[in-house]
Amino acid sequence: MALANPVCFPNFNPYLCGVELQKKDIRKLSLPELEEFFLEQGEKKFRAKQVYEWLWNKSLKNFDEMSNISLSTRELLKTHFTINHIRVDLMQHSSDGTIKNAVKLFDDKIVESVLIPTTKRITACISSQVGCSLDCNFCATARLKRMRNLNSDEIYDQVVAIKDEAETYFQRPLTNIVFMGMGEPLLNYANVIGAIDKITSADGLGMAPRRITLSTVGIPKMIRKMAEDEVKFNLAISLHSAINETRTRLMPINEVNPLEDLADALSFWYARTKRKVTYEYVIWEGINDDERHAKALAKFCKIIPSKVNLIQYNPIDEGEFRQASQEAVDLYIRVLEGQGIIAKVRKSRGQDIDAACGQLANKNEVAQLQPSENNSPTEQP
Ligand code: SAH
Repeated sequence: MALANPVCFPNFNPYLCGVELQKKDIRKLSLPELEEFFLEQGEKKFRAKQVYEWLWNKSLKNFDEMSNISLSTRELLKTHFTINHIRVDLMQHSSDGTIKNAVKLFDDKIVESVLIPTTKRITACISSQVGCSLDCNFCATARLKRMRNLNSDEIYDQVVAIKDEAETYFQRPLTNIVFMGMGEPLLNYANVIGAIDKITSADGLGMAPRRITLSTVGIPKMIRKMAEDEVKFNLAISLHSAINETRTRLMPINEVNPLEDLADALSFWYARTKRKVTYEYVIWEGINDDERHAKALAKFCKIIPSKVNLIQYNPIDEGEFRQASQEAVDLYIRVLEGQGIIAKVRKSRGQDIDAACGQLANKNEVAQLQPSENNSPTEQP
């Protein structure tokens, strides 16, 4: 579905973006709530469904474009509501085809989302929070600290913008969604689930839940909650070490949520969902690049059916973290495959525009003032 207005040009602002904050954002209303509004106003109930389709299925950002709604009803809607749609403020194209969007929210906060094209897939990497409250030492987003949670419509809009870009720039459909952008999705659970409901429902994008992956540091309580809620999407855990001491050094959240608790929660997850998990794992020189760590990972992988994605480290500064050698990666693969565990090496994408895993940090809020050659919106991949 092409959007009525392109979302991909910087400084192009056709939207109502939060100009009248005293009005309610119409997309905060469920369909029954919208029906109630129309009935209260003496209008027909079915108008709600029509408006709802414009808002979600067609992603309109302007009441005036709702062509099957009468002028007077549009005026009524404008008096009561705004559509707080996101705006893609800046697009950057990587030499490998990856596109990074700086997305401006109704309150002028910015998050980043990424389109990752491969021969078989086009994947949207989506943010769930502005900044992040977890202090993973190797991640650029952590340095921003958490400013606020995204609303479910703000999460949904990122997907729609990337779907539109996939069609515009690649003439291909969006095939996959990963919650691997800014933020910890399980610390914004209700809104993430709300967005996924819309992405997968017929009045939203109608995408299959198995095409969606939620990536988390692994908060045991929330993994149990997801299992109880019988979610149908995939789960990825940012593991990075299966030894508590090392993992706590990398990810301070491990101190209060140690690996034993994570293992218990994952066992519960598998018992309930029968879905295997993916462990994301970076091997760093001098930190976890030895046989002891590789064997601990292999042991952890046996707890429930799982596979491992060995992610390349994307440097965020000149600090203590460096990608391990190819020998270390080979050692891990040998140990894991020796135990019958599937391990894949994931090459980084979009590094030249800071779009790779862990590099999302709104750098261009500064760069926008100093345009760089990567900032051209018209450059084709
Ligand atoms: N908070 C969630 C999702 C965001 S991070 C999570 O932690 O899973 C997405 C993935 O990128 C995680 O696996 C994270 O550990 C990884 N990551 C963070 N910084 C990175 C870096 N500099 N290089 C490579 N991967 C990184």
